[in-house]
Parts: sequence; structure tokens; C-alpha cells
Amino acid sequence: MVALITGGARGIGKAIALRLAKDGFDIAVNDLNEAAFEGSDVLEACENFGVKVGKFYANVANSSECEALVKAVAATFGGLDVLVNNAGITRDGLMARMSDEQYDSVIAVNQKSVFNLTKFAGNLMGRAKKGRIINVSSVAGLYGNPGQMNYSASKAAIIGMTKTAAKELGRRGITVNAIAPGFISTPMTDKLTEEQKASMLSQIAMRRYGTPEEVASVVSFLASADASYVTGQVVEISGGLSM
Ligand code: NAP
Repeated sequence: MVALITGGARGIGKAIALRLAKDGFDIAVNDLNEAAFEGSDVLEACENFGVKVGKFYANVANSSECEALVKAVAATFGGLDVLVNNAGITRDGLMARMSDEQYDSVIAVNQKSVFNLTKFAGNLMGRAKKGRIINVSSVAGLYGNPGQMNYSASKAAIIGMTKTAAKELGRRGITVNAIAPGFISTPMTDKLTEEQKASMLSQIAMRRYGTPEEVASVVSFLASADASYVTGQVVEISGGLSM
């Protein structure tokens, strides 16, 4: 069984790669370029679980690079069973001052990537009559977040795309689900101001941030045989941010 994780060199993607390696999946880690893997031990750490690993470069915003990525993973491992659309970026700013470039770049990387990869991986999985696709959305897509018009738009879109793909691909034995993490400690959230972090913490029922490993354990379930009849769903992993 083979899992492809985009944006897997660090942060939540790395934790997902490690957890799925622990679960016994061969692991294909994609990231933007070699520089993204600098200082990352994700491949060695996955190999320690005795599985096969591969490193792939593709800009997930680019359709032809995504097509080549899916083909390369299938050629290397002999198939693809699980796709985790995890790669994502932020370019925060209040709407009034947000540039077109800020808006468009986030939509391209976070949202278009899910179309690109679900399309090509879905075709491949459809031929095998099985597969799991797990999309990383965010609580920002469910509830909105000031300063994140671009990001929340992309993450809300992912939820609609997840449900659409689940309906299109279900008859071929493929499940498609989304996860919506809350505030998870990673390099992405390290960029938030102390004020933003304090405000977020006060709204979390559990009064702590989540860890990448706590996100990865939900992905592990959705990728497992135990989740064989779960599709088109959004699982919030936020410590009770909004109830
Ligand atoms: P991160 O630490 O910034 O990791 C994101 C990874 O995606 C990086 O390795 C990054 O590469 C890669 N990436 C960026 N643009 C790419 C592209 N065009 N093509 C391929 N790879 C690309 O972020 P994270 O916090 O782990 O977040 C992972 C996912 O979880 C994202 O989708 C994010 O929106 C979502 N999420 C995070 C949180 C949180 O609290 N951290 C909460 C909710 C949802 P570079 O290193 O080269 O930039």
C-alpha cells in the first residue's frame, strides 16, 4: 500500500508521512523542490519503520507537474492507494489591503492543487477500484478568520470539492474526506503574532494548541480499513474551537 503526501517535508505533512509509515504504508513525499527538504529527516524517519520511501518534487499548483507526480509515484511504487492533499500556504492580510497576488497565490496552491491531484490520482485509483483521498482543510474554511480572506476561501472550497469528489468517485470504491485542523503548532503557525496566538488560545475549549501528531492520527484512521464506509465528511481537529 502506497501513500502520497504533498508538502510532506515538514510540519503536519511530515507527521502524516511518519504516521502512515508506522501504519505500514510505503511513503511518497512530495514538496516544492530540494530546498524544501533541506534540514528535513522525513525520509530517513519513515525508512526506520521498514517501508519503502521516495522523494518527489512538484509544485502542486501546476496541473502538468501534478500529472507527472502521480505518474512518477505509480511508476516507482506500482500504484497509489492514499493521497493526502496537505501542501498549503498563507499570505495573510486584512481584505482591504490584500493584493490580487496574495489572493491568487493562496487559491492556486491550496485549492487548485486539490483539483489537480484529485483528478489524476482519482483516475489512477478508479482503475484499481480502490483508494483514499484526504484533503487538509482548516477551521478557517468552516468559520472564517480575520486577515485570511484568501486562505479561508481556499479551505472552504476544499470542503465542497471533497464532497463533490466523494460523490463522483464513490462508485469506484474511493473515499474522499477532509480534515479541518484548528491551531496546530507548526512553522506555519509560528508566523502568527503573539496577540493572534493569545486570542486563538482563549477560544479553544482544551486551552492548548494541537500537535501535528494529533492531526496525523485522524488521517491514519481515514486511510485505514476501519474508515471504509466514511466518505464526504469533514473531521474537525481543533480541541473544541467551536461547538
Ligand atoms: P507548513 O509547515 O508551512 O508546511 C507546508 C508544506 O507545504 C511545506 O513543506 C511547503 O514547502 C509545502 N508547499 C508550499 N507550497 C507548495 C507547493 N506549491 N507545492 C508543493 N508543496 C508546497 O504548514 P503546516 O502548518 O504543516 O500545514 C500543512 C497543511 O495544514 C496546510 O494545508 C495548512 O493550510 C493546513 N493547516 C494547518 C494548520 C496549522 O495550525 N498549522 C491549521 C489548519 C490547517 P516550503 O517549505 O517550500 O514552503
